[in-house]
Amino acid sequence: MKITRFAPSPTGTLHIGGVRTALFNYIFSRQHNGLFLIRIEDTDQERSKKEFEVDILQGLQWLGIEADQEPVRQSERSELYRKAAEKLINSGSAYWCNCTPEELDEMRKAQSAAGKKPMYDGRSRNLGLARSSETVLRLATPENGETIVNDLIRGEIKFNNNELDDLILLRSDGSPTYHFCNVVDDYEQKITTVIRGEDHISNTPRQIHIQKALGYPDLEYAHLPLVLGEDKKRLSKRHAATSLNAYKEMGYTKETIINTLALLGWSTQEEIFSTNDLIANFDIKNVQKGAAIFDLKRMDWISSQHLSNLNNDDFIKIIGPFMEEINIHADAQNYEAIILAMRTSKPSLRQIAESTKPFFFPLEEYDPKGTEKFLKGSKELLEHAFDKLQNLNEWTETELDMLLIQIRDFFNYPVPKVNQPLRIALMGTTMSPSLGYTLELFGKEESLKRIQTAIKFIG
Ligand code: GLU
Repeated sequence: MKITRFAPSPTGTLHIGGVRTALFNYIFSRQHNGLFLIRIEDTDQERSKKEFEVDILQGLQWLGIEADQEPVRQSERSELYRKAAEKLINSGSAYWCNCTPEELDEMRKAQSAAGKKPMYDGRSRNLGLARSSETVLRLATPENGETIVNDLIRGEIKFNNNELDDLILLRSDGSPTYHFCNVVDDYEQKITTVIRGEDHISNTPRQIHIQKALGYPDLEYAHLPLVLGEDKKRLSKRHAATSLNAYKEMGYTKETIINTLALLGWSTQEEIFSTNDLIANFDIKNVQKGAAIFDLKRMDWISSQHLSNLNNDDFIKIIGPFMEEINIHADAQNYEAIILAMRTSKPSLRQIAESTKPFFFPLEEYDPKGTEKFLKGSKELLEHAFDKLQNLNEWTETELDMLLIQIRDFFNYPVPKVNQPLRIALMGTTMSPSLGYTLELFGKEESLKRIQTAIKFIG
């Protein structure tokens, strides 16, 4: 059985890169009949915030990436770290060091001046110092040989032990450091497989040294490629929103988000899939080593595909909150018909909701480009259409379509020269469902009113 974990530091809201890490851990555990756990790495008391922890847990819950046990918090586990530290002290694998910051600084400067890599040189290792309020606890790391990380994605990665210095495990105030907690927790939570971002590769040999000193079993590792923006720089707010919440608020469904993020570094023949498909087909060994590029256009395409797979009832339900937010309520006239008419107009729920606005609210303006191209020279056409429409008895799509053909024939105009000015008059833009249906949805009175307003506007 494999046990994986997602171990976020609650120093910010849930980042989409973090969601991908959590997702791959979750999928991997499901494929191995295992467990998926969450551990809040909140040892950094200054930067860790409860509100971020809540955000992270709620985000994962929304996506359906739920832990099999209650999440644990490092801030509540000091006893475990204290015991592990005792063990290392007793076995002689760790030692107390009283070097002052000034002394360490001087040491590093001298190393740099001599062209060496600055690192702690182990000067306190054999001094047999006792614990005091001035000492930190350091791990006595092997000075020779190499440490091999067996990575499921990258294969063997070798590190020379002489390049790794004696890591601090406990600070002088007795508080445990990040790497130490991370290793103790992986053991205590019985983790078998660590799946995390590539930025943790260089930490791994250090953590392996702590594990070995504590006599813990080896872990399996998989380091996921970084997520970059389109300019190949690390994904940041300059490229696109980075927090899960932002995508949720933009109206991307959880299915879309999971599908998009799973494709960051992994691919399959089918581009559109569900979490269950992922469990059936994902293979951690096929995750790429190279960085993955986050592309919003691809996300839009994936979103359109997922939305088009929803039946009408589900679509109406899922877009409901976005309609409410712009003050369009389910009891509005033609509510469902209008939503369904516009459901393929845009890639996200929020944008689709926005696109229905012209049906429910008076127009605020006409799209300038469309006005220039289609509306300006169309006074005669609109006046003629107004008369004809006014005399139409049966206001149905079929009748309206027939009338539109007659208008075209009367002027001998191509389709756009008749339809686009009318569309702009009704919707403010050239974007609408078929024109006959658009007129039907607006109803006779409102259609005529809007055409009249457009005629006045052209003046
Ligand atoms: N807390 C670390 C982070 O948020 C993750 C450490 C790990 O997965 O081992 O980047």
